[in-house]
Amino acid sequence: MAKDPWLVPVATLRRSPGASRRELRVGPVGHLEVAGTVVGQDSEAKADVVLCSLNGGVEVSGTVTATWEGYCRRCLVEVAGQVDTEVRELYRQRRRREAPDEDEETYPLDSEMLDLRPLVRDALLLELPLAPVCRDDCAGLCVTCGANLNDGPCACGPPA
Ligand SMILES: [Zn+2]
Ligand SMILES: [Zn+2]
Repeated sequence: MAKDPWLVPVATLRRSPGASRRELRVGPVGHLEVAGTVVGQDSEAKADVVLCSLNGGVEVSGTVTATWEGYCRRCLVEVAGQVDTEVRELYRQRRRREAPDEDEETYPLDSEMLDLRPLVRDALLLELPLAPVCRDDCAGLCVTCGANLNDGPCACGPPA
């Protein structure tokens, strides 16, 4: 199996707080779906980020991009687009006896590796369009006969 593109070695970086390093990673992040809008299993996402070593953690900031596919909410044709979003998140090493805190908005870190995958997935899930349209002035479908009104008026005439 190919190397996981989202795993970043951070041992060296973590030895020098204040140091930073740029990472450009590309690869599939797995299936993501929000309200019918999908980033496919094999679709490639990209993270262009800077890792900055802090005491007790690593801050990751930069941009995350991916291509999504979905359906126009008005006329149901397939539409696709791109998410391009900014991220700034903290990875923090947990002390051994510390229980995972669900409320804390940090990602887990160990001394050797940082996994960008959960950050990329979360960032994309937040940004996927809930109600994409094929174009801003999409006329939608006739509620009576289902004709696509972008192709011209149907025989039903204006609604009563
Ligand atoms: Zn449409
Ligand atoms: Zn009609």
